[in-house]
Amino acid sequence: MKLVVGNFKMNLNDSEIKDYINYFKNEDCSNVIFAPTSIYLKDFVDNGFKVSSQDVAFASKGAYTGDISASQLKSIGVNYSIVGHSERRKYHQDDLYVNNKIKCLLEEKIFAILCIGETKEERDSNLTIDILKKEIDEAFFTIDSNLLSNVTIAYEPIWSIGTGVIPTNLDIYNTVKMIKEYVYDKYKINIKVLYGGSVNNDCINELEKIDNIDGYLVGGCSIKKEEFNRLIKSVG
Ligand code: PEP
Repeated sequence: MKLVVGNFKMNLNDSEIKDYINYFKNEDCSNVIFAPTSIYLKDFVDNGFKVSSQDVAFASKGAYTGDISASQLKSIGVNYSIVGHSERRKYHQDDLYVNNKIKCLLEEKIFAILCIGETKEERDSNLTIDILKKEIDEAFFTIDSNLLSNVTIAYEPIWSIGTGVIPTNLDIYNTVKMIKEYVYDKYKINIKVLYGGSVNNDCINELEKIDNIDGYLVGGCSIKKEEFNRLIKSVG
């Protein structure tokens, strides 16, 4: 069964979260990981859902105002964390910290969902493959291959996030194939790869025809409970 990760980003308030949780309580969420804003993580954990943080601190503890460490996440029952999301790379310089963040997560036995992806300009300059390899190498630098089995990659073309523009199935297939082969050749692991970028009910049936992706990272559609539920049910 493919995995579906719902990244709420900085959306939904306290009463909306309660409503959302009540709605999903009676639904089959066995292949779903919810990634709410961090102040709501525990609400999801306490209701038995699989939960991911949207980010993690690059250090294990100490004077890092505003950050949340991997061990703090673990202590409330969070077992997954997105890392290197393009919005974090853009607004918070996460290119610099992805490797340390993954190390912190793996030390706490938290599963890392590493986001990689190219901009439109990079794609138009035929740099997609170079950029993806660079992001993988930066993220995996000096991490033991045995530990890397606790990492999943989310391939998210940046130009597709929140835009409604999606690569062709062949494009996604070829890029995912390249990522899997590159990681296998260099790091000797069979990595799982999710696709992310404007996944919604209009395109999910078409995306489901791609036979080498292991699931989806969903942003905008995940905050609308009925729509997200419909999407989850369409994923095989
Ligand atoms: C995302 O935030 O990772 C994402 C893919 O967003 P959207 O589905 O809205 O494009």
